[in-house]
Amino acid sequence: MPDETTTVTFLGTSAVVPGGGHDTASFLINGRYLVDTGWYAAIKMQCYGVTPLDLEYLFLTHCHHDHYVGLPQILLYRSMRRAQQRPDLPPLKIIGPAAEVETVVELAQRFLQAERFPEVIPPTQVIPLSPGGTFEDAAFHVAVCASRHPVPGLCYRFTDRRTGAAFAFTGDTAYDPALASHVRGVSLLITEASYGANPAPADNRSLHMGAPDAAQLAQEAGARRLALVHCPDEKQAAALEAAREIFANTFWPADGETVTVEKGKQSS
Ligand SMILES: [Zn+2]
Ligand SMILES: [Zn+2]
Repeated sequence: MPDETTTVTFLGTSAVVPGGGHDTASFLINGRYLVDTGWYAAIKMQCYGVTPLDLEYLFLTHCHHDHYVGLPQILLYRSMRRAQQRPDLPPLKIIGPAAEVETVVELAQRFLQAERFPEVIPPTQVIPLSPGGTFEDAAFHVAVCASRHPVPGLCYRFTDRRTGAAFAFTGDTAYDPALASHVRGVSLLITEASYGANPAPADNRSLHMGAPDAAQLAQEAGARRLALVHCPDEKQAAALEAAREIFANTFWPADGETVTVEKGKQSS
């Protein structure tokens, strides 16, 4: 009987620049799909029993630095270790916003001096996605809509094809009612709370959310649980408290925490 459990392991939950021992928002699905790279994803995942060789997919929500800065290290790790441990290593499939994902992967390869040291570039396959697009493999159906952020961003909704369990992550985004429709009925919603306990300010030029905005989104979407990420470490406790006043089933994941995505009836 195959294991039908879907798990999410949080590698980090900080915003922009992590404090010592932490990492920016990044997480693993079933130990095989990495969402954003954080500063130290290649190192952090080893703390939790996974290596970059185990990855099949990398999903980039958008191409701001704190979400892809760890990509060169992941590529370097795979090239350094594959000869001894996984000579048949398949290409890492990298999925992200169509307008920018190819550029970021190419720049990561150039940073590793691809022309001078081609042996340090492991095979990759870039899969650009646009809002409204979908993607499927044996385990998941993935649908994306646009996040509302100064650069192209994708909000990913995953549905486990075996169990129907659904979960979603918005990436960095301002509140938008279209997001609530896209993530309706998910068991687990992972979203940002850059402004901590405060709602986004009226001008919100950087297009982020505060914890109250995230909680409102979870409530409108009918999500079962809300995980908050992407906030300075010292503001996380207050952000969690503010969100729980609106949406009680909110948590702030600890680094390394693994949660199981609950199965169950989905409303869409
Ligand atoms: Zn961003
Ligand atoms: Zn960010």
